Amino acid sequence: MLSDDRKEGRRIDPDDWGAFRGAAHDMLDAALDRLEHARDLPWIAPPGDMRARLSLAGAQVGCDLQTLMARIRDEIMPYATGNTHPRFWGWVHGTGSAIGMVAEMVAAGLNANSGGRDHGAMRIEAAVIDWLCAQAGLPQSAFGLLTTGTSQATVSALHAARHAHFGADLRARGIAGRERVAFYASDGVHSAIPRALELLGHGSDALRLIPSKQGGMSLEKLEKAISTDRKAGIRPLAVIATAGSVNTGTFDPLPQLGALTRREGLWLHVDAAFGFWTRLAEPPWRALSDGLETADSIALDLHKWVGVPYSVGACLVRDGADLRAAFATRPDYLAPASSGLAGGAPWFTDYGMDLSRPDRALKVWAHVMATGTRAIGAAITDNCRQAALMGRLIEKSPHLRLAHPVVSNVVCFSPEKGDSVQITAELQLAGEAVFSTTRLNGETCLRAAIVNHRTTSADIRAAMAAVERHVTAAQ
Ligand SMILES: *Cc1c(COP(=O)(O)O)cnc(C)c1O
Repeated sequence: MLSDDRKEGRRIDPDDWGAFRGAAHDMLDAALDRLEHARDLPWIAPPGDMRARLSLAGAQVGCDLQTLMARIRDEIMPYATGNTHPRFWGWVHGTGSAIGMVAEMVAAGLNANSGGRDHGAMRIEAAVIDWLCAQAGLPQSAFGLLTTGTSQATVSALHAARHAHFGADLRARGIAGRERVAFYASDGVHSAIPRALELLGHGSDALRLIPSKQGGMSLEKLEKAISTDRKAGIRPLAVIATAGSVNTGTFDPLPQLGALTRREGLWLHVDAAFGFWTRLAEPPWRALSDGLETADSIALDLHKWVGVPYSVGACLVRDGADLRAAFATRPDYLAPASSGLAGGAPWFTDYGMDLSRPDRALKVWAHVMATGTRAIGAAITDNCRQAALMGRLIEKSPHLRLAHPVVSNVVCFSPEKGDSVQITAELQLAGEAVFSTTRLNGETCLRAAIVNHRTTSADIRAAMAAVERHVTAAQ
C-alpha cells in the first residue's frame, strides 16, 4: 500500500490491475451467467431490509474488491426485475441482450460524452440515427437523437412541433399570452403524452382524447374535434398518433392521419415506442405501421422490442433543422471550432435538452450489427404469433375471456372468477409468469405485452395452463 500523500493521481484506479482484471472477468462471467441461464432466473422479491443493508454510511474507506464483487453477485444480482426471463410479459419491458451488455461495458470504459465535440461516439450515434430514419422511411432531411426513452423523446418532439408552430421567438417569450392551442390523440394514448404537455406548459387539458376502435382513432371524430376547436378560436397544433397502444397494441390509421394533418396544416407526431418495430415484421403485422413515413416526428424505444439494454429511445424529426432550431444554443464555452476536438458536426446537445450525455449508440450499433435485422424482425414476428396463440388459448378456455381482440403483441383477458390483481401477483410470486394488469371497459384484466425474444410457444402454453390453475383454484 502506498502512503496517502503518494497516491495523488492514483486514488481511484485499481492499485493492482492484475487482481482487478481477475475480479472483473469473474464479474463479467457472473453477468453472462444470468443471461445464459435466464430461463432459471425469474423475478424474486427483494428482501425487506435490502435498502438498509446497502447503506453507504460506512463507506469512508474503500472495501476490498473480492468482498465488493461477492456482494454484487449475492446481494444485488438475484433481485433484478426478471425481465430477462422468457415468461416476462408485464408492462412493456425489453429483455436485453448479451452483445448489448458487453457493448455497454465497453462504452462505460471509453466514457465518452456524447453531447458534442469531435470523437467516435458522435459518429456512431449519427450512423444509428441515419439507420432509424431509413427504417421509418423518412426523407434525407430527417435527423434526431438517442434519448433516455420515448418519454423524453416525446417532450423533445412536441417542443420542436410547437416551436415550428409559434416561431423562433417562442424560445425567448415562452407560451404565456399566446393563442390557445390543442393537441389530438386517441383515447388509448400513453401517459407520456399528457405528461409531456404538462412539462411544456400547455397542460394536459390541451390534449383532446379522440374515441378509438380496433382500427385506432376515429377520423370522423378527430375532424369534428379539430373543427370545434377552430370555431372556438383554439388553434389545432398537432395530432399525436399511436403506433402500438400500451393497453391493447392498437395502431392508429397512419396513412389517413398523414393525409389529414397535411390538409389541415398540423404536425403529425407518432408515438411508436414499441410499434415502430413492426416495420421489421412479416405480413400482416408489418402493415400495421404503414404510413409511418408521413410523420413529422416519431418517438420510439430501442430498449423494448429490439432488446437493447436499458435505457435508450430515439426522437426522429422529419426535418432535423426543426429540432435543432428548438434546442441549439452555443455559449462561448461551447463555441464550435473548424479543427480540433471542438470541431465536428452534428453535436447532439443542439438537438435535445442534455449537454452531458452517455454514449447510448454503441450498444444499439453492436446489437444490430451482431444480430442482423432479419433475426430482430423474426423475433418480432414470433412475438406477434405468440400473442395470437395466447388469444386462441384464451378463446378456447372455459375459464378465460379476451378483453380485447389481439391486434399485435398485446393480449388482455379476464378470468371467469377470482381477482385479476391477485392472480397476477400469485403467478409472479410463484415464478410462473409475469403479466401486469390494466383496466378495459371499466374492468380490471390481466395483460401481456410480448416484447421478449426469449419467449417460445411452449412458454405461452405453460403460462396459460398456470393461469387456468390459479383461476380454477380461486374462490
Ligand atoms: C413505454 C411507452 C412509452 C414511454 O416510453 P419510455 O421509454 O418508458 O419513456 C410511451 N408510449 C408507449 C406506447 C409506450 O409503450
